[in-house]
Amino acid sequence: MLTFIKKIGRSILFKLLLVFLITAVVLVLAVGSIIRHYADDSPHRRLMGKNLAQYSIYLIQEIGVPPDLKRAQSLANRLGIAIAVVTPAAQWSSEVLPDDKVQYRRVSGFPQVERARHRGRLFIRISKPSAQFLLVFGKRGDWEGDDYGEVLLLLLLVIGAILTLSYLLVRWLLTPLAWLTNGMKRMSEGQLDTTIPIRKFDELGDLTQAFNDMSAKIRNAVRAKQQLLLDVSHELRSPLTRMKLAAEFIQDNKVKKQIVTDLHEMEVMTTEILESDRLSSEQGGLSYATIELTALIEEIVVSYQGQSPGVKILSEGAVSVSVDPERARVLFRNVIDNALKYSKDQSRPVEVNVGSEATSVWVTVEDFGEGIPQQDQPLLFEPFYRVDKSRHKQTGGYGLGLSLCKKIMAAHGGDITVSSKPGRSTRFTITFPKRR
Ligand code: ATP
Ligand code: MG
Repeated sequence: MLTFIKKIGRSILFKLLLVFLITAVVLVLAVGSIIRHYADDSPHRRLMGKNLAQYSIYLIQEIGVPPDLKRAQSLANRLGIAIAVVTPAAQWSSEVLPDDKVQYRRVSGFPQVERARHRGRLFIRISKPSAQFLLVFGKRGDWEGDDYGEVLLLLLLVIGAILTLSYLLVRWLLTPLAWLTNGMKRMSEGQLDTTIPIRKFDELGDLTQAFNDMSAKIRNAVRAKQQLLLDVSHELRSPLTRMKLAAEFIQDNKVKKQIVTDLHEMEVMTTEILESDRLSSEQGGLSYATIELTALIEEIVVSYQGQSPGVKILSEGAVSVSVDPERARVLFRNVIDNALKYSKDQSRPVEVNVGSEATSVWVTVEDFGEGIPQQDQPLLFEPFYRVDKSRHKQTGGYGLGLSLCKKIMAAHGGDITVSSKPGRSTRFTITFPKRR
């Protein structure tokens, strides 16, 4: 309930409707009271008042003193009015009159006559020494007040209809806002090719146009940066190959080892950048084959033999799935490599599990190392993102492995996710769909 009120309070649509409503009410009240003020004071009205007073006096003379009640009743019936007579001895009225308080005003020039407007009827009271007469002009049903109910209902219906119409109209006028919100959400999710249709040529249309211009500029800037990165990575490949060859001739074994390791790291980085781009540019860049996942993982684990704290494969049964075996290998190598790299030598061994469900096949890789802080987990799959840059200096790497893994899984129509308890364990879950 509270959130609903908060949501409504934030809605510009609701605020506009409220402004409409308040304006309408204020307008009606203002116009109504102005008209009333002038109508009450009009000369015709004063003249009519005097005529009516005189007419009432004639009517009373018809009834006579002492009052002839039979005559009064027949007058009331004939003229369609209500008559009441109050004498010190008795009280009589031609119909039941309500006993609520009526505010009378004197009629100038007629000392005995007072008038009042009450519940839509006109009251004339004439006070004689012997009796007091009351003449009530107007429709009889008004007393019961059932007309008020009808009027109120009609009023509510009209207000409801007007509000509904204005709601629809305002909502239609504000549709570009919803489109803009959607577009910005898509942009922030990384869909840079977002453009919003312009169907209104007003300020919101201008805003949409500005958004589209901005998104085009951002798109171009990002593309240019990406292209630069790709070009640099590509151009680095040949000098890297030449340097690797040259490194073979270095005499000092320690220096040679260091240089070869650095060169290897750079080569892995350029390959990861180029590979990532290839995967995102052509979705069909995968060449599928049905493989046995556990066997593939065992094969990879063999190459990490002797590296502490070691890897244990817990699953037994064979799980077949159709994937691009080369890309799957790159993926598992990256995740297992991370698990070992970010464990301590004395940690529990890394655990790999493979399983199958109705529509998917999953692999979990869990290590019991340093873990990943909660706030870093959503950013892990961004290119070049590393949790603790200074601490990880000695582990090497550029923060590209997981972003490549994400791309590989997206190309397969699957996903890779992480969950971690900082200081205790980290688990990566990889899911491949069974059907392509
Ligand atoms: P690269 O893989 O490019 O050689 P990298 O390993 O640093 O370098 P990623 O594999 O993308 O890059 O991982 C990004 C960051 O995520 C790592 O720097 C590390 O901080 C964190 N990380 C990844 N896996 C784990 C893990 N199993 N335990 C703790 N932190 C991890
Ligand atoms: Mg890595």
